[in-house]
Amino acid sequence: MHIWVLIKQVPDSEARIQVKADESGVEIEDRYTLNFFDSLAVEEALRIKEQVGSGSVTVISLGGGQKSIEALRTGIAMGADEAILLEDPAFAGGDEYATAKALAAAMKGMAWDMILCGREAFDDSAGIVGPLVAEFLSIPHITTVVKIDLAPEGRAVIVEREIEGGKEVIKAPLPVLLSAQKGLNEPRVPPVMGVMKAMRAEIKKIDLHAIGLSQAEVGRTGSREEIVRYHRPPERPPVTMIQGEAADMVQKVVALLKEEAKVI
Ligand SMILES: Cc1cc2nc3c(=O)[nH]c(=O)nc-3n(C[C@H](O)[C@H](O)[C@H](O)COP(=O)(O)OP(=O)(O)OC[C@H]3O[C@@H](n4cnc5c(N)ncnc54)[C@H](O)[C@@H]3O)c2cc1C
Repeated sequence: MHIWVLIKQVPDSEARIQVKADESGVEIEDRYTLNFFDSLAVEEALRIKEQVGSGSVTVISLGGGQKSIEALRTGIAMGADEAILLEDPAFAGGDEYATAKALAAAMKGMAWDMILCGREAFDDSAGIVGPLVAEFLSIPHITTVVKIDLAPEGRAVIVEREIEGGKEVIKAPLPVLLSAQKGLNEPRVPPVMGVMKAMRAEIKKIDLHAIGLSQAEVGRTGSREEIVRYHRPPERPPVTMIQGEAADMVQKVVALLKEEAKVI
């Protein structure tokens, strides 16, 4: 069973993110981590390979430089066999469509039975790169899965998705793309030996020429969308701390709700 996992490095949840003064973009503090949903995808790929007892897990990321390399090294440290970085100046400025197109082109002709990815990337949160990759590769995709079983008869998966008030069970033939939702598993902490292996591991680099697309099909020129501007969240009103005995505090809260907030 050959499994590929799409992974992306995203800002750490504690990184400071500021909207630029002209609202044209965001400035992100240099603190990055592997996207949480992608770590679920890597974990699941490793578990499936372990269960089957053969095959390989390949992690692939499109992006520039050290950030993406760190994501790939985390994948290797967890246990992935191979790491591939799609890197080329032509990929810069790409939207989700252009990103997925390049990823799919890189994977075309490679050996895979299953592609796993995250439900969404924590930074841009489009949640569409995975399904678009599946569309470009003409394979089925199932999103937000919380359980993956290989069908006993082989060459198919039976997955569960959480839906309002219950679960949906879906069967699909391999090859298939599945996006990982919280609850799928508990990602392993990379063991020390894994971290050491990852530090020495070769990261295979693939550029535009190698994926057989033209410059017009990737990056900014290959994009279908344009970010017009970012908004800052509205300033929060100051917090009023209320102190004293419980009965006094209740009276003060009611007075504030009536007179200041005017909600009762
Ligand atoms: C007009 C426009 C211009 C942009 N320009 C840039 C830019 O210059 N630089 C930049 O960094 N971003 C840029 N972006 C953002 C970039 O397109 C997205 O980060 C990227 O397409 C993924 O989208 P997402 O983060 O919403 O992923 P989602 O669709 O939410 O991701 C779902 C899953 O897909 C997989 N995935 C997503 N992205 C990648 C990836 N790169 N490699 C491997 N797997 C992945 C992961 O498994 C992830 O969990 C731009 C976006 C737009 C709309």
